[in-house]
Amino acid sequence: MSQRNHFLAIGQLRNSDRFVVFHEAQILVRADEFIWRRSQIDSRLLEDADLIVLEDEAGSSIIAVNTRQDLAEIQNAQSQPLRSLLSLDDNSGFAVAGRASQLLDWYNSHRYCGVCGEPTVHHPSERAVVCETCQKHYFPRINPCVIVLVARGRQLLLARSSRFKSGFFSCLAGFMEIGETPEETVIREVKEEVDIDVENIRYIKSQSWPFPSQLMLGFIADYKQGEIDPAPEEIAEAHWYDIDKLPNVPSASISVAGELIEYFVNKVTKL
Ligand SMILES: [Zn+2]
Repeated sequence: MSQRNHFLAIGQLRNSDRFVVFHEAQILVRADEFIWRRSQIDSRLLEDADLIVLEDEAGSSIIAVNTRQDLAEIQNAQSQPLRSLLSLDDNSGFAVAGRASQLLDWYNSHRYCGVCGEPTVHHPSERAVVCETCQKHYFPRINPCVIVLVARGRQLLLARSSRFKSGFFSCLAGFMEIGETPEETVIREVKEEVDIDVENIRYIKSQSWPFPSQLMLGFIADYKQGEIDPAPEEIAEAHWYDIDKLPNVPSASISVAGELIEYFVNKVTKL
């Protein structure tokens, strides 16, 4: 990032800049495009908007915009939930939109100091806000979660959540608690959600999950002992599935859960 501020005034925008525009926590999309050129942006959309630099290249920055003007119709665009972009073929495009959403949401919810209650100001060069009264600095935060595929031979433990009506069977997941290592979270979450003990926990890969601001750390763990006993407030049902008879699972192109399942199936079938 150059010396340019992260937080901009309209006068600092350049004709070469590109924009990702949010309105009331939804992304504005036109003809399947969510990156807007400067020439496509009605200037009224930028009045009183939050403007945050996402990426700053020599000739062209990407700017996240939180507009307060209800001009979606004038712009000939639809506002859509961020999740609707998950199926984009281009994952890097979704990453840009996800980062924009998280940063706008974070700035918007840190307008006041949590210690003394005074308004915060934007740090001149860091991605941060500062309270000038008590000098407290606030940096953007993400919330780490583990997601774990529990394996027993050729079988996978897959569960259907009681909170989301997606109909998918997926891996178990949960937020890390303060003071835990991710491996400890894996052991605790699997025990809490299905009353199973696991061992041989290995990290596979991660994914930024901007709903609203999680970092998903993906693991595979081996079954150690116990019988599946789902915690009803979290898990509607959970079963062992042979890799040849999997239920409806998330796509590997969308979520790390799908990738963990695909990774394991590929590994076992190549043995
Ligand atoms: Zn303060």
